[in-house]
Amino acid sequence: MPKRVTGAKKPGRGDATHCVHAGEERHGRKAPLTTEIVQTSVFVLPKLDDLRRIAHKKEKGYLYTRYANPTIAAAEKKLAALENGECCVVTSSGMSAILVAFLTFCSAGDEIVSMLDVYGGTVKLCDSVLSRCGIKTTFVPFHELDRVEKHFNRRTKLLFLESPTNPTVRCVDLAGLAKRAHKHGVTVIVDNTFATPILQKPLDLGADIVVHSATKYLGGHSDLTAGAVVGSEELVEKARDIMLTTGGSLDPGAAYLLLRGLKTLEVRVLKACDNAQRIAEALAGDPKVEKVLYPGLPKHPGHAVARSQMKGFGCMVSFEIKGGEKAAERFIDSLQLWYLATSLGGVESTVSYPMLSSHFGTSAERLKWLGVGPATVRLSVGIEEPADLVADLKQALARA
Ligand code: PLP
Repeated sequence: MPKRVTGAKKPGRGDATHCVHAGEERHGRKAPLTTEIVQTSVFVLPKLDDLRRIAHKKEKGYLYTRYANPTIAAAEKKLAALENGECCVVTSSGMSAILVAFLTFCSAGDEIVSMLDVYGGTVKLCDSVLSRCGIKTTFVPFHELDRVEKHFNRRTKLLFLESPTNPTVRCVDLAGLAKRAHKHGVTVIVDNTFATPILQKPLDLGADIVVHSATKYLGGHSDLTAGAVVGSEELVEKARDIMLTTGGSLDPGAAYLLLRGLKTLEVRVLKACDNAQRIAEALAGDPKVEKVLYPGLPKHPGHAVARSQMKGFGCMVSFEIKGGEKAAERFIDSLQLWYLATSLGGVESTVSYPMLSSHFGTSAERLKWLGVGPATVRLSVGIEEPADLVADLKQALARA
């Protein structure tokens, strides 16, 4: 019996205000300034009639943390406000959010259309789990997305998109694709992990549902694992039923960390975006760099799309290093400030090597379509002093 949670969006308020206040407003009340961690698995009810009223949906109330919990509810309201959604359900991880979103719309016999460039974990979920449940997924190469209709049939329920993509930061026209999917009665889900709601609001661009790995920018401090599904109240309440039935609920302690991280989301993302632009420009002029992939560079093929649908060009920069794997290894092992770590979106700047992490084991043919190879290095740009970040990259490139 889930407590229904609706977005706490106040019209006219900006993202920075939502980051700090949405879901946590307590003006005029005697209350702690911050949201408490309600660290319990279950709630006590005074009388059987209280349970009856909740069971019959005559009253809202907390029963069991897997269904709903005040700390979790506050995080959900804040995320709903930030994504301009009515409602949000948070989950134990980004993968759980994606699974919940898929199961909300698909049953055996249904089909999903997605992009070859989506997160590797999503590909694996579709190929090795959903396929066993009778749900088929077609992954469309990036360059064929403008003919996406070709892949729709009467069984297609979902179009699942991601922009910018990992690691080549390709950008897809979310509004255009959503319009075309809707013409065929297909629901659109966007994984907004890389962009964050600060830079891109897929619901405003026509998507029906947004999913996140909140482990990344939303948490922002590399200290929690969480996910989120945001959209209309009707769709998200269906997703909440799937979440609580499949057991993908978030722990209240992690919800508290998420709330705390979200307060600085805009400040962190805008600073990291500025840093990323500086870094992309610095890398573009380096003799050891073959090619820089960053939508903020006018030559990047996604520049125009990113400019039209994003408020900034993102905090992820990838590049191809001259000299392939050996040079990449010398470069990564020479870094003194950037950490080798296979996640992203934290305040710390990190480097990852897709061939041995996100794309390990990917077929040669798929890698070719994706534009990923032994020379590809991915940077998750943090909020440190940009001159220090550039200096460390430059000294490591000189050793590559
Ligand atoms: N979506 C994207 C774009 C990701 O990069 C990731 C993880 O790297 C996920 C989803 C999965 O998130 P989690 O690791 O929180 O399950």
